[in-house]
Amino acid sequence: MIFADSLSRLGTESAFVVLARAQALAQQGKDIINLGIGQPDFKTPEHISEAAIKAIRDGHHGYTPANGLPVLREAVAADLNRRHGVEVNPDNVVVVPGGKPTMFFAVMMFGQPGTEIMYPNPGFPIYESVIKYSGATPVPIALEEKNGFAFSAEQVLSQITERTRLIIINSPANPTGGVTPKEEIDKLVAGLMDHPHVALMSDEIYSNMLYGGREHVSLLQYPEIRDRLIMLDGWSKTYAMTGWRLGYAVWPDAAVDHVTRLCINDHSCVNAPTQFAGLAALTGPQDCVTDMVAQFDARRQVIVDALNDLPGVRCADAAGAFYAFPNIEGTGLTSKQAQDKFLDEAGVATVAGTSFGAWGEGYLRFSYANSTENILEAMNRIKKLL
Ligand code: PLP
Repeated sequence: MIFADSLSRLGTESAFVVLARAQALAQQGKDIINLGIGQPDFKTPEHISEAAIKAIRDGHHGYTPANGLPVLREAVAADLNRRHGVEVNPDNVVVVPGGKPTMFFAVMMFGQPGTEIMYPNPGFPIYESVIKYSGATPVPIALEEKNGFAFSAEQVLSQITERTRLIIINSPANPTGGVTPKEEIDKLVAGLMDHPHVALMSDEIYSNMLYGGREHVSLLQYPEIRDRLIMLDGWSKTYAMTGWRLGYAVWPDAAVDHVTRLCINDHSCVNAPTQFAGLAALTGPQDCVTDMVAQFDARRQVIVDALNDLPGVRCADAAGAFYAFPNIEGTGLTSKQAQDKFLDEAGVATVAGTSFGAWGEGYLRFSYANSTENILEAMNRIKKLL
């Protein structure tokens, strides 16, 4: 067999590698607390699961339109109107199996050798992986602790060249929990008016998870960029539905047919019962979301305080998502050493900052999608170790 060269450029998501190791250790009888994986520890709310069961019973077993059930796309548009006060045409909504396919398709649509794509670093590792896979040159947007891990519009704009095709931004962010202030987004959008050849992908998968009175700013709220904006969101994090595989994006008019063809080539459609579950999530009561977010907020405060109490560790306020991203340089350990040591010697799974790009050295990602009790126990174990 001779594989294509492109395969050697494809990266991965280390959180899955850590998860596999943590599960293997647990199977050997070790008591592991998993603060590594980025998924809510809650069960999918009952009324959502029931809608999928009903859809199966009602015989929704066939293909749906490749871009998603019309009724689901209408519900997405209504939800975006409710949450962000924006008008979205359901024809611009394309439903896919999770958040990831949108980023894969967007990067494959714009990236090829000779082009450049900008992405946050540290950031969700799949961005860099698929940019490299497409043959485009990845251009990191360095995110720094001193700026609350928010991008600076000036930095982004100064890195644009005639080869730039796509800029990826993500707020609230994985792995840092950073939230970009509105002023920087205003400046970015204004600056992009001078670069009409550049498309923008805004990954807003954590748009429901902001704390301390912060409000989400959606890129959909900027009409001047709509004709080249891809806004990604989904059900995985908001409704504790990571394993269902359901997400969507709002695409610009000129891209809808292209992405629909990619869906037809790739997966035909998302399985119908899952789409009915997604519909129930958006049209049903939203207190399940409010409750989960309130619990994340309480845990966030617990973990940030406990991290700041560890010798050699400093943790900035985590503004959004469900991650804390402390600086661990004072421990004398590299990110990877700390990740391995904490897992092997304290039974606490975390993810090295470097798994999210070179700019993550000196940091460790803790997901606080776990019980307060487990978080406190994990912190105690690490404290003893340090
Ligand atoms: N975008 C970001 C920033 C994420 O952190 C994740 C998952 O961790 C995703 C997208 C992908 O979500 P999904 O599991 O729906 O593919």
